[in-house]
Amino acid sequence: MSRVYNFSAGPATMPLPVLEEIQAELLDYKGSGMSVMEMSHRSKVYQQIIDEAEADLRKLMNIPDNYKVLFIQGGATLQFAMIPMNLCKNGVFDYIVTGAWSKKAANEAKKYGKVNVIATSEDKNYSYIPDVSDLPIDDDADYVYICENETIHGTTYQSLPNTKGKILVADQSSMFLSKPVNVSDYGIIYGGVQKNVGPAGLSIVIIREDLIREDVASTIPTYLRYDTHANNGSMYNTPNCWAIYVCGKVFKYLLNLGGLEKMDEINKEKAKVLYDFLDSSKMFKGTVEKQYRSLMNVPFVTESAEKDAAVVAATKAAGFDNLKGHKSVGGLRASIYNAMPIEGVKALVDFLKKYEEENA
Ligand SMILES: *Cc1c(COP(=O)(O)O)cnc(C)c1O
Repeated sequence: MSRVYNFSAGPATMPLPVLEEIQAELLDYKGSGMSVMEMSHRSKVYQQIIDEAEADLRKLMNIPDNYKVLFIQGGATLQFAMIPMNLCKNGVFDYIVTGAWSKKAANEAKKYGKVNVIATSEDKNYSYIPDVSDLPIDDDADYVYICENETIHGTTYQSLPNTKGKILVADQSSMFLSKPVNVSDYGIIYGGVQKNVGPAGLSIVIIREDLIREDVASTIPTYLRYDTHANNGSMYNTPNCWAIYVCGKVFKYLLNLGGLEKMDEINKEKAKVLYDFLDSSKMFKGTVEKQYRSLMNVPFVTESAEKDAAVVAATKAAGFDNLKGHKSVGGLRASIYNAMPIEGVKALVDFLKKYEEENA
C-alpha cells in the first residue's frame, strides 16, 4: 500500500484509522453477515447506525434540543435552492458574497425571490472578508446568508455578521467540524460532507425547529421540503446510507480525539506551519489578507503561472497530490482539512523550502 499526502479540496483525505475500520467491517458489519452497503435502511442494524451518527454529532457540536439534524442527498449545492424555497416568507434574501460558493448560492436564490448582496469582497478577487458589523440588512429579509469558509478563495470569518435579529444561514462545508461553533448563533448550519468529514453526496443540515415550516409553497417537490426530512428521521426515501455510516465513524474518531476544541488546536498548529513558511518565503506568497486566512484551504502563488505549474508538477512527483490551485485564483492550493496529518504539512513545507533553495 502506498498512500500520498492528498491536499485535495474535496472529496478529500480521510483519517486512516477510519478507513481501516471500514475496511475491517466491509464484508460483515458487526456479525450482520452483510456489508453496510447491502443493508436495508429499514433494518434495526442500520437504524442504530444513523441514530448513533446523529447522537455523536449532537455531542460533538453541542447541538441544542431545538435544532434538528437532517441528512439530505444532493450535496451542498441542493441547499442553495432548498434554503430560499423553505425559508421564503417575504421573498427577500440578504447575501454576503465572499467568493465562488456564496456567489453561486446567491445566484440560485434569485430564482425564488429578491436577492440583496449586502456586502462583497469581489473588488479584490475575494481575498478578504468585508466588515460585517453594521450591514444594510433589509427589514424584510427572510435570512442573512454567508459561506463561512470559502474553499476556493481560502478566506474565513473572524466574527459572524451582525444580522440585526435576522436568521443567519451558514454554508460550513469546508470547515465543518474543524472547530467549535455556537450552534444557537445560527438558524441553519449546513455542509456537504466531502470536504471535512466523509464521502460525497451527503449534506448535513442543522436547522432550528421553528424554521421547518409546513406552510411552504405547495409547488416545492416533496423531497426538497425540510419538513419531509424532519418528519421522517432523514429516511423519507432511501438515504445515502453509506455516507452516513462513514460520517458516523468520523464523528466517533473526533470524539475520541478530544472533540472540536482539540481538533481546532491541531488545525491552528498545522496551518501555522504552512503560513509561517509562506510569510518567510521569497518565492511563494499567500493570496489572502492575513486576518481572514482559512485554516482549511491555503491558496498561494509564485510570481508567474509558469513557475506555479512547475512547482505543482514537482510536488506531484514527490508524492504530494492535488496542489493545483483553482483556476479563479491560480497558483497552488493546499487543503489541510482535519484528516491531513501535521506530518503531511511539515513534509510539504520541507519540500517547498528545498525547491525554493534549488530554484532561487
Ligand atoms: C464544495 C462546496 C460546495 C458544493 O458542494 P457539493 O456537495 O459539490 O454540492 C458548496 N459550498 C462550499 C463552501 C463548498 O466547499
